[in-house]
Amino acid sequence: MSALILDGTKIAQEIRSEVAAEASAMAGAGVRPGLAVVLVGHNPASEIYVRGKVKACEEVGVYSEKLTPPELATTPELLNLIDDLNQRPEIDGILVQLPLPPQVDAKKVLLAVDPAKDVDGFHPMNVGFLSTQRPGLVPCTPAGVIEILKRSNIPIAGREAVVVGRSDIVGKPAAMLLTNANATVTICHSKTHDLPGVCRRADILVAAIGRAGMITRDFVKPGATVIDVGMNTVTEAAEFRRFFAGNAKREETFRKKGSTLIGDVHPEVAEVAGALTPVPGGVGPLTIAMLMFNTLKAAKMRRGSSVAEFSRA
Ligand code: NAP
Repeated sequence: MSALILDGTKIAQEIRSEVAAEASAMAGAGVRPGLAVVLVGHNPASEIYVRGKVKACEEVGVYSEKLTPPELATTPELLNLIDDLNQRPEIDGILVQLPLPPQVDAKKVLLAVDPAKDVDGFHPMNVGFLSTQRPGLVPCTPAGVIEILKRSNIPIAGREAVVVGRSDIVGKPAAMLLTNANATVTICHSKTHDLPGVCRRADILVAAIGRAGMITRDFVKPGATVIDVGMNTVTEAAEFRRFFAGNAKREETFRKKGSTLIGDVHPEVAEVAGALTPVPGGVGPLTIAMLMFNTLKAAKMRRGSSVAEFSRA
């Protein structure tokens, strides 16, 4: 048996098209959703992520603004910047690209973002809204996990879901969303006993660990849906061969780039799982799509009656 591959790129494109259609209708009513992205210093990976987010905004018709405080920016300086963005009516979403430099109190800065503009869904107020099933802004990557399941018609209610990873950004909100969708949820972490045994109970297994190919076939109940959130870079030839020997497409990428991306799920899982998200092209593309969705949602929630007719999200 070979798993059905869940095409995240296609699902993300669907969501982006839906957001673009709504943003265009809002523009007709004189409202343009706006996103401010704060990028402190010159972290190369962060610069790439921010470029992707700004490009996505252009594509879906969301106004975007990139703010680039210097590497040595202080906590009070960033708090002033956030305060200014909180006040500006045309800015619906504020995203502070992480990681922040070490001299900055990241928790304090994130806490300063107006929860109504917190398109990352990290503010404790939005965490509380999610856990009490009130309308709010939900973290993008876990929201993307749920979109993949729903849009692939994979039933969630009443199923056993196991989430490996308990970060505030992925694992915990993914588990909360699955609970809210009526799954029976177990959260695992580095201290979990018999991790393969617990994972084998899952109808839906979500891996958000950050360990290349850790989830092997022994962790997976035959026919289960496996969602691989992990994004790990393989650069060593021996490690590459362990995962991808004989995969001509991967071998070509590795030869050209000297690296390749792998999730937390070993490729052999495709032989056991019923459905599986690939890496790349699975959960990854959903993160930016859900950021666009959240920006639109924040605009609708904040601007209330002036865009009431667009209040489906
Ligand atoms: P994180 O904050 O480092 O959390 C990792 C979690 O995995 C922790 O809860 C940790 O347990 C658990 N863990 C680590 N080793 C384990 C082991 N051997 N057995 C069981 N559990 C283990 O990572 P994260 O931010 O949640 O990200 C997880 C992965 O998702 C990373 O690969 C990241 O790059 C990727 N990611 C992808 C996207 C996307 O857009 N696709 C977005 C965000 C993150 P403890 O709590 O006990 O330490």
